[in-house]
Amino acid sequence: MEAAQNGNLEEVQRCISIPGVRVDCLDEHGMTPLQHAAYKGRPDIARILLNQGADVNDRNHEHGYTALMFAAISGNTEATRLMLEAGGSTSHVNSVGRTAAQMAGFVGQSQNSSMINNFFSKEDLDEYTVIRGHEKEPKLPGHLVQPLHTLILHSNLHPVFISMYLQEHSDLMADVTKIVRLLDLLCEKMMKQKATNEVMAMKFHYLSAILKQCEKCWKSAGNLNAWIKSLVKGRDEDGFAEQQEKLIRASVRDFPYIESQLMQQMVRSIAPVKIGQSPTALNILSSAVNGQKFATDDESCCTCGQLHAEKKCSVCKMVKYCDQKCQKLHWSTHKKFCKELADDYVKMMKRLKEEQEKEERKKKENEKEKEKTEELTKKLEKIAISPAEG
Ligand SMILES: [Zn+2]
Ligand SMILES: [Zn+2]
Repeated sequence: MEAAQNGNLEEVQRCISIPGVRVDCLDEHGMTPLQHAAYKGRPDIARILLNQGADVNDRNHEHGYTALMFAAISGNTEATRLMLEAGGSTSHVNSVGRTAAQMAGFVGQSQNSSMINNFFSKEDLDEYTVIRGHEKEPKLPGHLVQPLHTLILHSNLHPVFISMYLQEHSDLMADVTKIVRLLDLLCEKMMKQKATNEVMAMKFHYLSAILKQCEKCWKSAGNLNAWIKSLVKGRDEDGFAEQQEKLIRASVRDFPYIESQLMQQMVRSIAPVKIGQSPTALNILSSAVNGQKFATDDESCCTCGQLHAEKKCSVCKMVKYCDQKCQKLHWSTHKKFCKELADDYVKMMKRLKEEQEKEERKKKENEKEKEKTEELTKKLEKIAISPAEG
């Protein structure tokens, strides 16, 4: 127990090899070694304990915390992922009714909270690769488990990002009808199971809606180029990608479970926003599904929404892209505004420079003032001393 608490890997290994030592022994607070390892953010130790049969869903802790909850608040994403993969329940609540994802969000570990909300194990898909009852073929061909699982786990919900992923995974598009049907089924399952998961249901529904659109284009053209282009295209007055906004708004409105609190909340958030203004439907969807605050747009790719886009438009330096591919897609819209943005950039830099110069001038003036004061003080001191001397 102490070894797990102190993060002593070798000692943990030694202890659990001693016959008679229970891997799920409890400390005075009802905490197991696995929970300690999770709380300390030590996936290496947690892995050993899990391999020894530690119960990831042990609930003897005095406040009902599970190993997943401890990992979630530790801020360690690897430990969190490990608990999820080991089958840590995402719906268990602690003694005050909070789930692991809510606890992570509460302490500011939004990456962990997003990971938990978006977690869906590969095994959950595996069951659909088996032929059941009167089926002639499985709902999901085995070779599509991996690419579909990756699609489901993406936290970037930008329709261009999803469509580009599908474009690259033509095997998914070849069976798109099946995939759409399965996503709809998964959405239904999330809503009808005992522990309803509205977040995942919304995500499955949204993915299904995008795939249905992709399907149309794929069937007529054999690729998604025209579809992706239409999504990226900005309207004339301000370059805002209107079609994306409308697509996401429609998909939220079409969520088949109108009694869902999450859906109602989203519709209420979207309704008063004029198309083209913030927050966008994508902002609202992402924050509902991923539990994140709205990502600031200047960090993400203008075309596909991926975070940490590094490449800037070389002319205006005001927009960012993942790579040349994303930049090329956006150019037909961006070129109309690039010059304007470039002027803005020059103005912005000029203003920045002016402010800097002003700051510097002020600093110099302050220094001069200080020197003067010092000089004066010295003079006064001399005067004060002189008569005494004399
Ligand atoms: Zn991009
Ligand atoms: Zn530009």
